[in-house]
Formats: sequence, structure tokens, C-alpha cells
Amino acid sequence: MGTPVKDVTIPDSALRSLILQKHCDYIASYGTKKDDYEYCITEYLRMSGMYWGLTVMDMMGQLDRMNKDEVIQFIQQCQHECGGIGASVGHDPHLLYTLSAVQILTLYDATDTINVDKVVDYVKNLQQDDGSFYGDKWGEVDTRFSFCAVACLALLKRLDAIDIEHAVEFVLTCMNFDGGFGCRPGSESHSGQIYCCVGMLAIVGQLHHINADLLGWWLCERQLPSGGLNGRPEKLPDVCYSWWVLASLKIIGKIHWIDKAKLTKFILACQDDETGGFADRPGDMVDPFHTLFGIAGLSLLGEDKIKPVNPVFCMPEEVIRGNGIQLELL
Ligand SMILES: [Zn+2]
Repeated sequence: MGTPVKDVTIPDSALRSLILQKHCDYIASYGTKKDDYEYCITEYLRMSGMYWGLTVMDMMGQLDRMNKDEVIQFIQQCQHECGGIGASVGHDPHLLYTLSAVQILTLYDATDTINVDKVVDYVKNLQQDDGSFYGDKWGEVDTRFSFCAVACLALLKRLDAIDIEHAVEFVLTCMNFDGGFGCRPGSESHSGQIYCCVGMLAIVGQLHHINADLLGWWLCERQLPSGGLNGRPEKLPDVCYSWWVLASLKIIGKIHWIDKAKLTKFILACQDDETGGFADRPGDMVDPFHTLFGIAGLSLLGEDKIKPVNPVFCMPEEVIRGNGIQLELL
């Protein structure tokens, strides 16, 4: 007998259709109760939280329910003298939150409300001689930051500011024998890192370095009997991985290799019919992060009540196209 597969069972009572309006109401009310325990403990990722919430509202066609002026003012207050942007007012700048801020401003067509030249300098100064990127001044290197840097500059149309050739070389040193990518050279493949590396290569038009058959195979093996996808072998399925795996498959032209009907069923089962929103797995607590990736995943699977999503930027395709950004997908 082989090792038992780690998986979940979808209960018979699980939802089978999309409760779109409940998700809109859930996101619209999230963050309006500012003394909420949950709201307070998530301050360290407030900027990304706003990106998740605003992006999913845009994909569901209800971005106008959010307070645009308040959001823009908040982002302005989070930009530092060095150009970088923090998670919240008074928090240190980091590439992760700088990208979230740029994504939000792109949704609102309002990048001119912050100092773009300084953002570009901030990103440029985080690039190292080997082509890698630090996430902030503390010097942690991770392929996630290579994606953040390139995505951020692409949205600002300033990719010329960095050394792309070295940036690509570094990402390729993190490619493994299984076709996947890790966070640093020699690190094991993980679907979150694969998404970042594949996305980064797509933005700079270098996807030909990828062995799409080998990587596609590894990604498809993430699908479990429940239909859900895990992030790496021996892990439980999770809605956010359905996004990272599915988007990577879309970028390398292999999305048809997974069982779409079963994955759709798994994602729909992660909705909470009382509160709205999606959880990581059926029956767990919902949050804005998994709500975005649940909706974005369903969009890639062809759900027509949701706007088509761009698999690289995880933003509405119409926003990316409207900005004149062309991407090479396989
Ligand atoms: Zn998750």
C-alpha cells in the first residue's frame, strides 16, 4: 500500500453555485468595523489586504462601492522618503507592499498620485549584483521579490530601470530538476515560487527558458482526489494554491491538463453561505485573501459572472490591457 493521500472530503451540504453578491457584501463591510479584532491584528499587511479586497471587488464588478479617495490618501501616507511603501502608516517600506500599492493605484488609474520616480529608484536600489532582489533594506533574497520588482516596474512602464538580463539569470538559477522553482538556488519547488518565477519570466518575455511539459506535469500532480490543489507534495489542498498552480498552468499553456470541473467544485465548496467570502478549505473561516484567490481561480476556470483575470498580475485583464501591457504566454 502506498502512503495515504492527504486530502479533505467535500461535505454533501457544500455550496455548488457561486454566491457572488454575498462575497461583494462581505468585502464591502470588511474593514468598516475598524475596532474589529481581526482588522487590528492584520495591520502588518493592510496594504496587501486592500489590494486583495479592491481587486476582487473590481473582478466582481463592484469596485465603486469602495472609498477611492480614502484608499489613495492612505497609500500616499505609506510612501517613504526612499520611495518605498509600507504595509500601513508608520510601517517600514517593503517591496511586497510597494507592489500592492502600485496594483491598487493601477486599478484606480491613479499612479500619478504618488511619487513614481521615487518608487522606481526604490525598486532599482534593491537589485543585487547577481540579479536578485532584496525585499527591503534588511537583505532577504527570495524569487518572490524578483516578481514584485518586475511586476511593479511593468505596471509603472519603467522596466528599463533595472538589469533585466541579470534578473532573469538569477531566477533561472532557482529552477529545479523537476521543472519548478524555489525561493533561492537549491531550494525545493513550491507552487507559490513557481507562480512568481513564471510570472516574472512572462513579463520580461523569457518564458522559453521553461520546460513547459515537465513543469506542467509537476503542477498537475498538485490536484488531489477532492479536486483541490496543494502547494507541494504531501500538503493539504488550499484555495490560494488553486490560484498559484492554475495561473502558472495558464501562463505556460497547460491549463487544460487539470480536471476543471473537480477544481471548480472544490473552490465553490470553500464559500461560506452565511458570511460570504472563501476559506482555504471547506468549513474553515473565510478571509479576503482566499476570497480573492477563490474568485480569481473561478475566473480562470471560465466563470462568466466574474471579469476575466490576468494570470500574471492577478488583476482584471481589462485593466492590464487598458494600460497597454502586452504579455507573452505560452
Ligand atoms: Zn491558503
